[in-house]
Amino acid sequence: MFSNRLVLMITDSKGSRILNINAFFKRIAFYIVVFILTLIFFSIISISVFRHELEYIAKNNNTLLSEYQKLLDKNSALNDKIDQRVEELALVGDRVEHLEDLVGLPLDGVPSDTDEYEKVNYGLQDRLEVASLAGVQKAFVMKFIPNGYPMDYYRRISDTFGYRIHPILQRKHLHAGVDFSAEIGTPIYATADGVVEFARKDYNGGYGNLIKIDHSFGFKTYYAHLNDLLVKRGDFVKKGQIIAYSGNSGISTGPHLHYEIRFLGAYIDPQIFIEWNMRDFDLIFTKEINIPWQSLLATINNLMEQMELPSSQVAQK
Ligand SMILES: [Zn+2]
Repeated sequence: MFSNRLVLMITDSKGSRILNINAFFKRIAFYIVVFILTLIFFSIISISVFRHELEYIAKNNNTLLSEYQKLLDKNSALNDKIDQRVEELALVGDRVEHLEDLVGLPLDGVPSDTDEYEKVNYGLQDRLEVASLAGVQKAFVMKFIPNGYPMDYYRRISDTFGYRIHPILQRKHLHAGVDFSAEIGTPIYATADGVVEFARKDYNGGYGNLIKIDHSFGFKTYYAHLNDLLVKRGDFVKKGQIIAYSGNSGISTGPHLHYEIRFLGAYIDPQIFIEWNMRDFDLIFTKEINIPWQSLLATINNLMEQMELPSSQVAQK
């Protein structure tokens, strides 16, 4: 029995005490067990809390991922839209530039060949105004029907359209054009697109060196008393293209250009056509009553609508 018990006896000046070592170890073991149990308990609690936290983070992560995906989709949709806009802009740009080419508007402030247009840099606003459907029609009209001055430099208009006594032939006749007094060698420009119907030197009708241009819709222009001819019969010419240099050939009292416009073979006063431009586009319709403007414009409207169809189909793709 004694061997099962380990007893420690402590002796000092106050006497002796006996310590039961076995009971001492039992108590220590109890504390260790309690400590371990406490540790396990707290671990379980911590793990549970962490698991909760992890679940929360995972859930949050999923939400963020789906939000990120949404943003990606939105971004891609916006990119698509931007691409579409860029394409549309390019298309509009093409059209505007094409129109400016038609009207002869300078793209970068460089003056056009004829002086009826303002020699300024056209702002976007002006360019877009030209781009309107009415603008397209105007541009078309101004390209194909004679308008503006046939030359940039002249001294004065020395004779206008009308009946008078011919200064050389001395009999009453119709002066069928407008005379621009100008130095020999002044550049002469076509006043609309067309095809050269006649270009000959020493023509015997008094016109001297003469160019006739056949334009669309029944119009013709005559450029007489020329010096050098730069085009020949059958050449297609553009509005503003230089076709000749002025001279003093034929029956002429001095160096000048005699400029005529005819409609269906009949003489018409070129003056209002010379002054005609994009800004005062409508003026000519009331001032020149010998042209069936209404049906002419209706025909051009019709033509433009047919031309518009393919490009608008492209724009919708
Ligand atoms: Zn004349």
